[in-house]
Amino acid sequence: MEKAETKRRIETMKKMETMQCKECCRDISKEVYEKNNGYCNICYADREDIESEKKEFNKEKKSETQYIDSSNSSNIVAKKFKLVVKTIKIIGYVGAVIIAIMFMSIGDLWVLTGFLSGIAIAITTWFSTLLFEAIAEGLNLLQDIKNKL
Ligand SMILES: [Zn+2]
Repeated sequence: MEKAETKRRIETMKKMETMQCKECCRDISKEVYEKNNGYCNICYADREDIESEKKEFNKEKKSETQYIDSSNSSNIVAKKFKLVVKTIKIIGYVGAVIIAIMFMSIGDLWVLTGFLSGIAIAITTWFSTLLFEAIAEGLNLLQDIKNKL
């Protein structure tokens, strides 16, 4: 007899178990929760509006992420150009010094030739990297313009 009473009590408690509406966090009974698919009675009536609003929100979020992605991909191109510039600079300037030293080591008559060829290579390097730097800058500028649109 007592056992049955306890059992019934547990049953009632289970029914009384409160859940929260997934929209407004209002306390609702588990029964209502399950019946309304997680919404309280008020939110359940508006659920279509809520769902469509959420879909809109997610859409906006998605397009925002794509926007960030596209700006990153262009920055990668600009970064690659800058890497090329760095590589050319290192090869060019180191090469200029090595060639100048090589000419100078041949003999006293070659010192001026070595010096001038070193300068010539350095200037060539500077001009060619300037072109690449201009392209990289141009890419960044285009990205800025695109971002502002
Ligand atoms: Zn609600």
